[in-house]
Amino acid sequence: MLTVEAFTFNPFSENSYVIINNKKQCWFVDPGMCDAEENKAMNAFIIENQLSPQGVINTHAHIDHILGVQALKDKYKITFGLHKTELPVLSMAQASAAMFGVSLTEVPVPDWFIKEGQPLKLGDDTLEVFYTPGHSPGSISFYYPEGNWVLAGDVLFQGSIGRTDLPGGDFNTLIKSIRTHLFTLPDNTIVLSGHGDATTIGDEKRYNPFLK
Ligand SMILES: [Zn+2]
Repeated sequence: MLTVEAFTFNPFSENSYVIINNKKQCWFVDPGMCDAEENKAMNAFIIENQLSPQGVINTHAHIDHILGVQALKDKYKITFGLHKTELPVLSMAQASAAMFGVSLTEVPVPDWFIKEGQPLKLGDDTLEVFYTPGHSPGSISFYYPEGNWVLAGDVLFQGSIGRTDLPGGDFNTLIKSIRTHLFTLPDNTIVLSGHGDATTIGDEKRYNPFLK
Protein backbone atom coordinates (compact mmCIF):
# COMPACT_ATOMS: atom_id res chain seq x y z
CA MET A 1 0.00 0.00 0.00
CA LEU A 2 1.32 3.41 -0.95
CA THR A 3 1.07 6.50 1.21
CA VAL A 4 1.73 10.09 0.18
CA GLU A 5 3.41 12.92 2.05
CA ALA A 6 2.97 16.48 0.81
CA PHE A 7 5.32 19.44 1.15
CA THR A 8 4.86 23.00 -0.06
CA PHE A 9 8.02 24.64 -1.38
CA ASN A 10 9.46 27.67 -3.16
CA PRO A 11 8.03 31.15 -3.90
CA PHE A 12 5.30 29.54 -6.06
CA SER A 13 3.88 27.51 -3.13
CA GLU A 14 4.31 24.38 -5.18
CA ASN A 15 3.27 21.02 -3.74
CA SER A 16 6.01 18.40 -3.78
CA TYR A 17 5.07 14.82 -2.95
CA VAL A 18 6.83 11.75 -1.60
CA ILE A 19 5.14 8.43 -2.43
CA ILE A 20 6.10 5.68 0.01
CA ASN A 21 5.50 1.91 0.07
CA ASN A 22 5.49 -0.42 3.08
CA LYS A 23 9.13 -1.38 2.44
CA LYS A 24 10.06 2.29 2.97
CA GLN A 25 10.99 2.76 -0.65
CA CYS A 26 9.92 6.10 -2.07
CA TRP A 27 9.54 8.23 -5.16
CA PHE A 28 9.73 11.98 -5.28
CA VAL A 29 7.12 13.70 -7.42
CA ASP A 30 7.72 17.29 -8.58
CA PRO A 31 10.36 18.13 -5.95
CA GLY A 32 10.42 21.93 -5.82
CA MET A 33 12.94 22.68 -3.06
CA CYS A 34 14.58 25.97 -4.02
CA ASP A 35 17.23 26.55 -1.33
CA ALA A 36 19.37 24.88 1.34
CA GLU A 37 16.67 25.13 3.96
CA GLU A 38 14.06 23.38 1.83
CA ASN A 39 16.53 20.69 0.76
CA LYS A 40 17.32 20.15 4.43
CA ALA A 41 13.63 19.73 5.27
CA MET A 42 13.21 17.08 2.58
CA ASN A 43 16.36 15.20 3.54
CA ALA A 44 15.39 15.29 7.22
CA PHE A 45 12.08 13.66 6.31
CA ILE A 46 13.91 10.90 4.41
CA ILE A 47 16.28 10.25 7.32
CA GLU A 48 13.63 10.36 10.04
CA ASN A 49 11.50 7.85 8.19
CA GLN A 50 14.46 5.73 7.07
CA LEU A 51 13.30 5.91 3.47
CA SER A 52 15.12 4.50 0.49
CA PRO A 53 14.62 6.88 -2.49
CA GLN A 54 14.09 5.08 -5.82
CA GLY A 55 13.68 7.95 -8.23
CA VAL A 56 12.09 11.24 -9.23
CA ILE A 57 9.00 11.19 -11.43
CA ASN A 58 7.50 14.48 -12.58
CA THR A 59 4.01 15.43 -13.70
CA HIS A 60 5.60 18.16 -15.85
CA ALA A 61 8.69 20.36 -16.06
CA HIS A 62 7.61 23.88 -15.16
CA ILE A 63 10.29 25.65 -13.18
CA ASP A 64 8.50 25.46 -9.82
CA HIS A 65 8.20 21.66 -10.18
CA ILE A 66 11.84 20.92 -11.03
CA LEU A 67 13.83 23.20 -8.72
CA GLY A 68 14.77 20.36 -6.35
CA VAL A 69 15.32 17.55 -8.87
CA GLN A 70 19.07 17.88 -9.39
CA ALA A 71 19.84 18.01 -5.66
CA LEU A 72 17.97 14.72 -5.16
CA LYS A 73 19.66 13.11 -8.18
CA ASP A 74 23.05 14.09 -6.77
CA LYS A 75 22.35 13.09 -3.19
CA TYR A 76 20.61 9.76 -3.73
CA LYS A 77 22.02 8.76 -7.15
CA ILE A 78 18.52 8.23 -8.49
CA THR A 79 16.96 8.62 -11.93
CA PHE A 80 14.62 11.33 -13.18
CA GLY A 81 11.69 10.46 -15.44
CA LEU A 82 9.07 12.55 -17.20
CA HIS A 83 7.01 12.45 -20.40
CA LYS A 84 9.04 12.92 -23.57
CA THR A 85 6.76 15.66 -24.94
CA GLU A 86 7.76 17.79 -21.93
CA LEU A 87 11.35 18.16 -23.19
CA PRO A 88 10.72 21.56 -24.86
CA VAL A 89 9.50 22.89 -21.50
CA LEU A 90 12.58 21.53 -19.74
CA SER A 91 14.79 23.20 -22.34
CA MET A 92 13.27 26.55 -21.34
CA ALA A 93 14.02 26.01 -17.65
CA GLN A 94 16.91 28.48 -17.37
CA ALA A 95 14.98 31.15 -19.24
CA SER A 96 11.94 30.75 -16.99
CA ALA A 97 14.12 30.69 -13.86
CA ALA A 98 15.52 34.06 -14.95
CA MET A 99 12.06 35.37 -15.83
CA PHE A 100 10.57 34.37 -12.45
CA GLY A 101 13.65 35.37 -10.45
CA VAL A 102 14.58 31.98 -8.99
CA SER A 103 17.93 30.27 -9.12
CA LEU A 104 18.42 27.02 -11.01
CA THR A 105 22.04 25.88 -10.84
CA GLU A 106 21.70 22.98 -13.22
CA VAL A 107 18.86 21.80 -15.47
CA PRO A 108 18.19 18.15 -14.56
CA VAL A 109 18.59 15.75 -17.48
CA PRO A 110 15.92 13.04 -17.70
CA ASP A 111 17.25 9.49 -17.50
CA TRP A 112 14.15 7.89 -18.94
CA PHE A 113 10.71 8.72 -20.30
CA ILE A 114 7.40 7.87 -18.69
CA LYS A 115 4.71 6.64 -21.08
CA GLU A 116 0.95 6.60 -20.81
CA GLY A 117 -0.36 3.12 -20.17
CA GLN A 118 3.01 1.91 -18.90
CA PRO A 119 2.46 1.20 -15.18
CA LEU A 120 5.03 2.49 -12.71
CA LYS A 121 6.10 -0.09 -10.14
CA LEU A 122 7.33 0.86 -6.69
CA GLY A 123 8.05 -2.54 -5.17
CA ASP A 124 4.75 -4.45 -5.37
CA ASP A 125 2.61 -1.36 -5.85
CA THR A 126 1.60 0.11 -9.17
CA LEU A 127 0.71 3.60 -10.36
CA GLU A 128 -1.22 4.12 -13.58
CA VAL A 129 -0.05 6.89 -15.88
CA PHE A 130 -2.48 9.18 -17.76
CA TYR A 131 -1.31 11.56 -20.47
CA THR A 132 -3.10 14.80 -19.54
CA PRO A 133 -1.67 17.65 -21.68
CA GLY A 134 -3.02 21.18 -21.92
CA HIS A 135 -1.39 22.99 -19.01
CA SER A 136 1.91 21.93 -20.55
CA PRO A 137 2.50 19.70 -23.60
CA GLY A 138 3.73 16.69 -21.64
CA SER A 139 1.67 16.81 -18.44
CA ILE A 140 0.94 13.41 -16.94
CA SER A 141 -1.10 12.27 -13.92
CA PHE A 142 -0.35 9.38 -11.59
CA TYR A 143 -3.36 7.32 -10.48
CA TYR A 144 -3.33 4.88 -7.57
CA PRO A 145 -6.70 3.05 -7.57
CA GLU A 146 -6.04 1.12 -4.33
CA GLY A 147 -5.49 4.36 -2.44
CA ASN A 148 -8.23 6.21 -4.27
CA TRP A 149 -6.07 9.15 -5.30
CA VAL A 150 -4.70 10.77 -8.41
CA LEU A 151 -1.69 13.05 -8.40
CA ALA A 152 -2.55 15.46 -11.18
CA GLY A 153 0.11 18.18 -11.04
CA ASP A 154 -1.23 21.47 -12.41
CA VAL A 155 -4.00 19.94 -14.52
CA LEU A 156 -6.84 20.34 -12.02
CA PHE A 157 -7.09 22.44 -8.86
CA GLN A 158 -9.75 22.92 -6.21
CA GLY A 159 -12.17 25.23 -8.00
CA SER A 160 -9.80 25.93 -10.85
CA ILE A 161 -7.69 24.48 -13.65
CA GLY A 162 -4.08 24.89 -14.73
CA ARG A 163 -3.11 28.01 -16.65
CA THR A 164 -2.84 27.53 -20.40
CA ASP A 165 -1.01 30.72 -21.42
CA LEU A 166 2.51 29.32 -21.04
CA PRO A 167 4.35 27.82 -24.06
CA GLY A 168 2.76 24.56 -25.18
CA GLY A 169 -0.40 25.20 -23.17
CA ASP A 170 -3.84 24.86 -24.74
CA PHE A 171 -7.21 25.43 -23.05
CA ASN A 172 -9.31 23.00 -25.09
CA THR A 173 -6.68 20.28 -24.76
CA LEU A 174 -6.65 20.77 -20.99
CA ILE A 175 -10.44 20.54 -20.67
CA LYS A 176 -10.41 17.40 -22.82
CA SER A 177 -7.66 15.83 -20.64
CA ILE A 178 -9.69 16.49 -17.50
CA ARG A 179 -12.94 15.16 -18.94
CA THR A 180 -11.36 12.10 -20.55
CA HIS A 181 -8.91 10.99 -17.89
CA LEU A 182 -9.84 12.54 -14.56
CA PHE A 183 -13.62 12.89 -14.66
CA THR A 184 -13.97 9.22 -15.57
CA LEU A 185 -12.50 8.25 -12.18
CA PRO A 186 -14.81 7.53 -9.21
CA ASP A 187 -16.32 10.66 -7.63
CA ASN A 188 -14.61 9.99 -4.29
CA THR A 189 -11.13 9.94 -5.86
CA ILE A 190 -8.86 12.40 -4.06
CA VAL A 191 -7.08 14.83 -6.35
CA LEU A 192 -3.60 15.84 -5.19
CA SER A 193 -2.71 19.03 -7.05
CA GLY A 194 0.47 20.92 -7.76
CA HIS A 195 -0.76 23.95 -5.82
CA GLY A 196 -3.34 24.44 -3.08
CA ASP A 197 -5.47 21.96 -1.17
CA ALA A 198 -6.50 18.48 -2.20
CA THR A 199 -9.99 18.05 -3.62
CA THR A 200 -12.12 15.23 -5.03
CA ILE A 201 -13.30 14.40 -8.54
CA GLY A 202 -16.93 14.64 -7.38
CA ASP A 203 -16.47 18.12 -5.89
CA GLU A 204 -14.79 19.41 -9.03
CA LYS A 205 -17.54 17.96 -11.23
CA ARG A 206 -20.11 19.78 -9.10
CA TYR A 207 -18.42 23.07 -8.25
CA ASN A 208 -15.53 23.80 -10.63
CA PRO A 209 -16.66 26.82 -12.69
CA PHE A 210 -14.39 25.86 -15.61
CA LEU A 211 -15.98 22.44 -15.98
CA LYS A 212 -19.72 22.96 -15.52
ZN1 LIG B 1 2.90 24.05 -14.10
